[in-house]
Amino acid sequence: MGTEYEESFPGEKSTNHFQPSSEEIQGWMQRAFDMSKEALENGEVPVGCLMVYNNEILGKGRNEVNETKNATRHAEMVALDQVLEWCRDNGRDSREVLDQTVLYVTVEPCIMCAGALRLLKIPLVVYGCKNERFGGCGSVLNIPEDELPHTGTPYKCISGYRAEEAVEMLKTFYKQENPNAPKSKVRKKD
Ligand SMILES: [Zn+2]
Repeated sequence: MGTEYEESFPGEKSTNHFQPSSEEIQGWMQRAFDMSKEALENGEVPVGCLMVYNNEILGKGRNEVNETKNATRHAEMVALDQVLEWCRDNGRDSREVLDQTVLYVTVEPCIMCAGALRLLKIPLVVYGCKNERFGGCGSVLNIPEDELPHTGTPYKCISGYRAEEAVEMLKTFYKQENPNAPKSKVRKKD
């Protein structure tokens, strides 16, 4: 991958990572969109994300479902695995790190990912467009805010960042040939 993710971006000054400034959101989301573009170029559902802890990217991911032939390899899952690996490599308690880590993602997390984020106690998710078919942060279910006392902790979402662009990328993907995808136009009856 040719993109440098290590450089810090201009305008970073906020000390409260759970209340990112618009400059911070802009900077991190740009990188998430870069990942999403890379997914699209590789025949994957264009979703890209970053997990940011203490102004540092600990995990970054894009959808890898077709490449891995594993339906669970959504961008968020790829990034989460990297955060867990970072914690192991650095001798850090992942529970401590994850509850101070913000997720920046181009599309609303699906139900599966929204549930994983809740179980891992991520405090904040910033996302682009809605996920009308599978969204777990309000579109289909509302996992961050539902009353689920034994399932992780509720979290906050900031939505709508560059949403139109994120939707356009999804439309481009669903228009093109994708040999591994189920026929998206056909509704299953069961
Ligand atoms: Zn997902």
